[in-house]
Amino acid sequence: MNGLNFLEKIIEMLPDPFYAIDCDGKVVLWNASMEKLTKVAKKDIIGQSDYSHSIIFYGHKRPTLAELVLKSDEEAEKFYYRFNRNPDGSVEGETYSPKMDYHYWGKAVPIFEDDGKIIYVLVLSKDVSFIKGIQEQQEELLKRYEALFMNSPDGILCIDENHIIFDVNESFLKIFGYTRDECIGRDPDDLVMPLHLKPKAKEMTNILFEKFMVDFEDLRYTKKGMPLIVNVRGIIIRSGDKLIGGFAIYTDVTEKTKNKEKLESTNKELEATIKQLMESKEELRAQYEEIQKYAEKVEYLAVHDPQTMIYNRLKLSEIALTEINENKRGALILFDLDDFKTINDIFGHAYGDEILKQIAGNMKCMESDKSIIFRHGGDEFLILLREEDPEKIREHVEKIRNCLRENVIVDSVGNRITATMGIVRYPHDGESIDELLIKVDIALGNAKKSGKDRYFFFNEKMMKSFNTRINIENMLRRALENEEFTILYQPIIKTETGKVTSFEALLRIKGSNISPDEFIPVAEDSGFILPLGKWVLKEAIKQIRTWMDIGLQPPPISVNLSPKHFYDVHIDEYITDTLTEFDVPSHLLEIEITENIFAENRYETISILNRLKEKGIIVSLDDFGTGYSSLNYLTFMPLDKIKLDKSLMVRLIRSDSVMVLESLVALAHGLNLEVVTEGIETKDEFIKMKNAGSDYLQGFLFSKPIAFDEAEKLFNKNLLGFIYQG
Ligand code: C2E
Ligand code: CA
Ligand code: CA
Repeated sequence: MNGLNFLEKIIEMLPDPFYAIDCDGKVVLWNASMEKLTKVAKKDIIGQSDYSHSIIFYGHKRPTLAELVLKSDEEAEKFYYRFNRNPDGSVEGETYSPKMDYHYWGKAVPIFEDDGKIIYVLVLSKDVSFIKGIQEQQEELLKRYEALFMNSPDGILCIDENHIIFDVNESFLKIFGYTRDECIGRDPDDLVMPLHLKPKAKEMTNILFEKFMVDFEDLRYTKKGMPLIVNVRGIIIRSGDKLIGGFAIYTDVTEKTKNKEKLESTNKELEATIKQLMESKEELRAQYEEIQKYAEKVEYLAVHDPQTMIYNRLKLSEIALTEINENKRGALILFDLDDFKTINDIFGHAYGDEILKQIAGNMKCMESDKSIIFRHGGDEFLILLREEDPEKIREHVEKIRNCLRENVIVDSVGNRITATMGIVRYPHDGESIDELLIKVDIALGNAKKSGKDRYFFFNEKMMKSFNTRINIENMLRRALENEEFTILYQPIIKTETGKVTSFEALLRIKGSNISPDEFIPVAEDSGFILPLGKWVLKEAIKQIRTWMDIGLQPPPISVNLSPKHFYDVHIDEYITDTLTEFDVPSHLLEIEITENIFAENRYETISILNRLKEKGIIVSLDDFGTGYSSLNYLTFMPLDKIKLDKSLMVRLIRSDSVMVLESLVALAHGLNLEVVTEGIETKDEFIKMKNAGSDYLQGFLFSKPIAFDEAEKLFNKNLLGFIYQG
C-alpha cells in the first residue's frame, strides 16, 4: 500500500465529513461520511467543479471555506461566525446549511506545493448541532439572566473573584445614584459606605468570602450620602474550588422599614389608646360606681332622716299609703319629747342631737314587723303600729314610754325623757294619710295642752274644737284687717265705799257673740294676740284721753295682757310711748297679768314689770286661784293687786269655805297686796267677800261689761246704793 492509498483509507474512515478541492475548484476527495451526510455518492461528485459542492451544501453557488482559503471574500466570510483565518493559511468557522439542516464547524487547510503554491484545499467538518443547542440554551439563559438582572427592582452588582464590580444593573444605579461608569471596576464597599464606615462593610465582605453567602439588613449610603436601609445578599460563585465571582443584591427596605416602624408606632399608639381607653373605662366605671353610690345615698336620704338615719315623713307617706290601700288596720302614734327645748337650752344642741339619735336608735331596736319608726321633724317621732285594738296600742305606748325613761344615755348620764303623744287609728279615724296626720297632730296638741307625759287618742270632739279654732282664727284675721273689735268696760268698785275705782277693758268682736274665753286662746296660739293686745292698750288709753278731753275725770282702766306680750322686751316702751302719745298719766293705766307669764322668761318678765311699776302703772295678778297658784310667786312678783278668780269664789263661797278666802285675803294683805274679787253675782257673795276683807269687787251684781258711753255715766257713782236699798 502506497502512502496515498494509506491516507485515502484513513480519510475514508474518518467519522467526520471530509472533502478536498484542487486549486481549480474541482472536487478531488469525498469520503464516506460525506456521502452519508450529503446523500451524494463519491463517483457523482469527484471531478466536478464550479461550486458544485456548494450547491450540495447550500443549494446555490457560493464560496465555501475551501474557496476562502484560496481567496479571501469578505462577503462570503460573513456566512460564518467565529470565522478565523489562521497563520498557516487555514480558515475555520461555523455555519449552518438549511438545505441539510446541518450545523457544523469546518476547517479548510491548504496543501502547498514546494513552490508555495496551493494545490489542494482539504476541508473537514464537524457536526456541532448539539453544541449549538447548548449554546442556544446558554444564550437563552444568558438573556433571561440579563433580563432578570436588568429589570430587577433590586440593585445587583456582579463582582469578580476580587470583589471588583464588572457589571451593575439599572436599579443599583437608581438606588445609589451612580452612573454605570462610576461603578465598573470599583469595590462595592467603596460605593455604598462612607469612608469612616468602610471597615464595617469590609467585615461583611470578609464573612461573604468565608461563608460564600451573607444576608443581612443594614444601613448603606447613596452617592450623596443619604442613608438607606437595605437588605444585602451576597453570593459567591465557585467553580470547583475556584472562586469565579459573585453578586451583591441590594433591596431598599427603607420605606418598608419606615412603614413597619410606622405600623409599629401606630400599633404602639393603638395599644396606648386601648390602654388609655381601658383606663378611662376603669375611671368611668369608678365614676359610675361613685354616681351610683351617690344616687343610692340620694335615694337613701330621700326617705331617711340624715340626722337619725331612720325613715322620714316621705317614707311614712309611702308606707301608710300602702297600708291604707291594702285595707290594713293600725295606728299612728305621734310623740313629742317633753321639755326638749329646755334640754337644748341647758345642755346645748349637740347634746340635744345626741338624745334624738339615741331615741331613734332605741326606737329602731323596738321595731318589728308590727311597728316602724319615723322622724316626723324636730323632736317629734312617729310610729306606725299595725295594731288597732286600743288595748294593744296602749301596751305599745307604755313600751315606748319605758324605753324613753330608761334607755337614753348620753355622756354616760341617763336622761329621763318623757313624751306626750297623740294617737290616731286607721281606717277608724281616717282613710287618707293627710287626714290621719292632721288628726294625730290634733290629738297630740290636745294632749300637750292638758300637760306633759301623757297620750290622747284622737276623738271627734277634738276635731270639732279644732274646726272651731280654725273658724275663730279666720274670724280674727278678718276682724284685725277690718278693725272689727270693740272694748267693753266693766267697773270695779271699792268695797268700802261702793264707788267705781276702775274699769276693766274687755275685748269683743263686733257683731259676734264668741266670748273672749274662746277667741283669746286662739289668738294666743296663732300670734294674733300681739297686735290685738297693742290695739286694746291703745284704745283704752285713747278712751281715757277722750274722756279727759270732754272734761271728765275717768278712773284708771285696767287692760289684760297675755303672757305672749312679755316675749317682747319692748312692750313697756310701747305702753309708755302710747301714754305719752295721748298725754295720759300713767296712774290711769293698770295691767292684768296671769301667773303663766312666769313659766318662762321669768327674769325678763320681772324686769319689764318693774319698769312699768316705776312709771306708776298698777300691776294686778289675774285669775288667782286657777292653775298652779303658787303663793310663792306672790313673794317675788312685782305686784300691786291680786284678783281672785271667779271660779275660786264659786268653789269656796258656795261650799261655805269662806275661811280659806279670809286667810287668803289676809295673806295678800300681809304681802302688801290689795285684793280684788271677781265674779260677784249675788248679795251673799258680796257680803261674804266684804267680810273676808276683799278691797275691791267686780261682778255682774254691780255691772256687766258695758260700752264706753254707759261706763262714763258710772264715774264717781256708788254702785252699792241699790244693794242696800234692795
Ligand atoms: P278675765 O280677765 O278674768 O275677765 C273677767 C271676766 O269675767 C270677763 O269675761 C267678765 O265679763 C267676766 N265676769 C265679770 N263679772 C262676772 C260675774 O259676775 N259672773 C261671771 N260669770 N262672769 C263675770 P270676758 O269679758 O268674757 O273675758 C273672758 C276672759 O277673756 C278674760 O278673763 C280675759 O282673760 C280674757 N280677755 C278679755 N279681754 C281681753 C283682752 O283685751 N286681752 C286679753 N289678753 N285677754 C282678754
Ligand atoms: Ca282680767
Ligand atoms: Ca280673771
